[in-house]
This record gives sequence, C-alpha cells and structure tokens, in this order.
Amino acid sequence: RWIYLNGEIVKKEDAKISVFDHGFLYGDGIFEGIRVYNGVIYKCKEHIDRLYDSAKSIMLDIGMTKEEMTEAMAETIRKNGMRDAYIRLVVSRGTGDLGLDPRKCPKPSTIIIVEKLALFPKEHYETGIRIITVPTRRNVPDALNPKIKSLNYLNNILVKLEANMAGVSEALMLNAQGYVCEGSGDNIFIIKNKVIYTPPSYLGALEGITRNAIIDIAERLGYKLKEEPFTRHDVYTADEVFLTGTAAEVIAVYEVDGRVVGDGRPGPVTNELLEEFRREVDKDGLQ
Ligand code: PLP
Repeated sequence: RWIYLNGEIVKKEDAKISVFDHGFLYGDGIFEGIRVYNGVIYKCKEHIDRLYDSAKSIMLDIGMTKEEMTEAMAETIRKNGMRDAYIRLVVSRGTGDLGLDPRKCPKPSTIIIVEKLALFPKEHYETGIRIITVPTRRNVPDALNPKIKSLNYLNNILVKLEANMAGVSEALMLNAQGYVCEGSGDNIFIIKNKVIYTPPSYLGALEGITRNAIIDIAERLGYKLKEEPFTRHDVYTADEVFLTGTAAEVIAVYEVDGRVVGDGRPGPVTNELLEEFRREVDKDGLQ
C-alpha cells in the first residue's frame, strides 16, 4: 500500500504524522470518505466541493487547488493499482504547539489513504440490519454544524458504542427536538405507502453524497420523495427503512428498537433503488 502524505507518495510503514499535529491533539481538521468503482472516483466533484466547503467553514487553508487535490487522489489510486477502493482524504490543521491556536500551525497535513473497506458483512446487504435509536443527540447546527465533515467524530463514536453494546449494526441519532437525524456514519430513508422520506439536513445531518444520489435516482424512477422531519414513530411504522453512505453504500434495515420493519426483509422499493444505484456506479465506471 502507498499513502499520499503532504505532496509525496510513501510506503504505508513510512506514512507518519507528528504527535503535535492538531488533527490528533484536537480533532482540528476535516475529511472525506470516497469510493472508486471500476477505476472511476464516484461523485468526485461533490466530495471535493464538500471538503473545500468544510475547510472554508473552519478557516483551514488547504493550500492546494481542487484540481491538484483531485490529481493527488488519482495518482495515489494509480500507484496502488486498485480499480475498486475506498479513499480516506484527511486534511488537518497540521503541526503546531500545545495551545489550541491554529495560527501556530503554519502548514496543514494532507493524507490520502486508498484501501478496501466493507463496512458491514456481505450477507447483511441481502438480509438487512438491525438498528436502534440512542440517547446521544446529534450536535445542533449552531454548535459544530453537522454539515462540516470534521475530525470531531466523538459523538458518532459514542453512538457506535451504544450500537455495539446493544448488539446491533448501527444506531440513529435524534436531534434535541426528537426528530430523526442520521446514523453514526450514514443517512436514513423511510418509505411509507410508496412515498420516500429523508430528514432535511437542517435538522442536524451531514448532507450525504450517497443520500443525494439516491434522491436523484428515486426521482428519476418516478417516486415521490419528501425531505421532511419525522420521528421514531414514523420509522417504527414505515414499510421500509434503509441507510446510505459512501462506506455503507445502500443497506436495508429490518428492525428498529425491536420493531420489525415491514415483513422483516429488504422491501421492493429499497431493492429497486439499490439495484439502480449499483447500475449507476457501474455505468459511471465504464465512462
Ligand atoms: N452522516 C455522517 C455522520 C457521515 O459521516 C457520513 C459519511 O460520510 C454520512 C452521513 C454519509 O455521507 P456520504 O454519503 O457523503 O458518504
């Protein structure tokens, strides 16, 4: 494996970062998770745009143009010789002193890792997964805005720990008002009477790129899709539930807080969207 590290592509064993890096000390940085399907970076522009928006919001000067960043990714993929992969792109504030002040960090650290990633076991994509809702609330947009894909993932980790302790695959966060926001690393969709619902990102969710791809696909297939707030009750009584994310891709949910969703199997709408999504990523790959 080869890793891009601050302008150079180095061996995995040599890819080292200072203990004074503020990404490590304070979670001061941003990241993206991106997939390569069939040799093509899926939704490359969308990921790069989101990365640069996150950077702008936290006043982090990446010091590379979007084109240079895209080329760095392409080069790292080529060097690793992989046609299907998961990319982790991280830009941290860089090395500074022990104070919080970003002005003490003259240069960001930029890392590109190209790896294989299977978030859930393969068979779960056939059967669906069990999830729960947890007491940990999604941070609200006037604190650390969930639209910033920052290195501060402790909230999401707490959610994942709660899922692990309950012996389920994933967990959903609600916002302070009790509306459903998203999973620890994925967005949620529910389907009721053939209408597809997903929470608006202003409730407190990352505006997922897979989420937006599924919205486009659903509309193309002629489904009615509503971005509107919903509660746990709506999830419990939905005909179908599924999650989306770059790492998770599209995965059905068959149980939420002990309530069986629909007939306990991935439903027809979910399957249709999943199939179309797979076709799309293949198609993109063949361009
Ligand atoms: N929500 C959170 C908190 C995430 O970390 C992710 C992963 O990137 C997502 C949702 C899904 O977003 P995307 O489809 O852009 O990967």
